[in-house]
Amino acid sequence: MKNNDVSIIGAGLIGSLLGIYLSKKGLNVSIYEKRPDLREQQYAPAGRSINMALSDRGWKALDKIGLRELVEPYVIPMYGRRIHDEHGATTFLSYGKENQAIYSISRGKFNHVLVDEAEKHGTKMCFSHICEEISIADTTLKVVLPDGTKEDRETDVVIGADGAYSSLRDAMQRQTRLNYKQEYISHGYKELTIPATKEGEFVMDPNALHIWPRGEFMLIALPNPDHSFTCTLFLPFEGEKVCFDKINDEADLESVFRTYFDDAFSLMPDLAKEYFDNPTSSLINVECYPWLANKSMLIGDACHAMVPFFGQGMNCGFEDCFILDGLIEKYGTTSWELVFEKFQKVRKSDTDAISEMARNNFTEMRDSVANPRFIIRKKIEARLHELYPTEWIPLYTMVTFSDMKYEDAYAQGRLQDEVMDKVMEDPMILQNWQQVDYAAIISQIETARMV
Ligand SMILES: Cc1cc2nc3c(=O)[nH]c(=O)nc-3n(C[C@H](O)[C@H](O)[C@H](O)COP(=O)(O)OP(=O)(O)OC[C@H]3O[C@@H](n4cnc5c(N)ncnc54)[C@H](O)[C@@H]3O)c2cc1C
Repeated sequence: MKNNDVSIIGAGLIGSLLGIYLSKKGLNVSIYEKRPDLREQQYAPAGRSINMALSDRGWKALDKIGLRELVEPYVIPMYGRRIHDEHGATTFLSYGKENQAIYSISRGKFNHVLVDEAEKHGTKMCFSHICEEISIADTTLKVVLPDGTKEDRETDVVIGADGAYSSLRDAMQRQTRLNYKQEYISHGYKELTIPATKEGEFVMDPNALHIWPRGEFMLIALPNPDHSFTCTLFLPFEGEKVCFDKINDEADLESVFRTYFDDAFSLMPDLAKEYFDNPTSSLINVECYPWLANKSMLIGDACHAMVPFFGQGMNCGFEDCFILDGLIEKYGTTSWELVFEKFQKVRKSDTDAISEMARNNFTEMRDSVANPRFIIRKKIEARLHELYPTEWIPLYTMVTFSDMKYEDAYAQGRLQDEVMDKVMEDPMILQNWQQVDYAAIISQIETARMV
């Protein structure tokens, strides 16, 4: 049937999930992926496996096509943040209500599961195929095959799920009037590990996301099913204080870890090897518009790569697939241009909002969570939500445990922040927070919403 040949560039998390969605619709889907088949190697190249926090929006996209049961065996629930201070003492801060959790899953393993499933539903997986050029006007791909020869492939539709350094986006920039903005933040990241004990047990609470917030930098750790933790160290690349540029040998590394992450240091027998073997990766924010040209469109990180501090990049990309699928159901595939137009219209303001919230959340994760005022503020907000569940929903809850539009969540969050800033002005708030007049706070937020 005409209009049924869909080529997706990129078999990352978003491309492979989209492959499943579209194949289940009976479309002829081919995915071109420049890397070799990830199922034939270790789950991910060393130092680049990174765990994902899967939350409600991601689950909703998996549920729509019946994938929950397939994914569940690989996840570990994290009910809150466990904050480690410099002396090794820890504080637990719930993410939401009892039983509300985000779920740790290895990116490599997750990708493996999704690629298998895409293939099962008929998606043609073309690994080691590089999309070198895309002609937007006649929807043709120039593909470099595994043997190095090149071939032109005609297709009805091209969807670029090819990540932050998207080739389709490059082609759109050159061939159409696409605006593009990218920004590297000052920090990079490196993956490290906290292994299980000799007996194969977890060495820390497995049902939490562990954070060592140290102001300008931080370490985090997420649990794995083999009872190890995958850690990510976020540091500035350069600067006067602790930064990647100033850690040049084992002595520098040990001094930083003993000073700032002493309790973690004692749990990381392979720290030096991993630190010096694993790559230091950068963090980028990408914005562009429009996301479509003719019958080509961008999705996932290709059009909205964001920094990882709200744990939403993948969840947001999965939500993209869910929404695109709904639009295909509504408008059919006779006019992909219409579907794509509707998609970018409904989605752009939301992805701008979550990108901005992700940037703002960096300060919260690396700095504020260690501050007693912040902890009290979160406790007051949690109590407000308990007493007035529909009138006051903390921003984190709106983003992570609901599917309300990111744009609306952000707007609500800012109003609530203004009200909470006033509440926190009370010089005795740390002592008196239990006696706060919750009804008065609710009436303030209701007034703010009416203005
Ligand atoms: C440190 C870190 C932690 C994160 N934590 C979280 C989290 O907890 N929760 C969350 O929701 N998100 C998180 N994210 C974000 C998440 O990883 C991304 O949003 C998500 O992986 C994007 O998937 P994607 O498929 O759009 O892009 P990618 O994963 O980048 O996949 C793109 C694919 O396209 C392929 N490709 C590129 N160009 C071509 C070409 N020319 N031809 C063929 N193939 C090509 C690439 O090889 C790649 O496989 C995190 C990100 C980082 C960096």
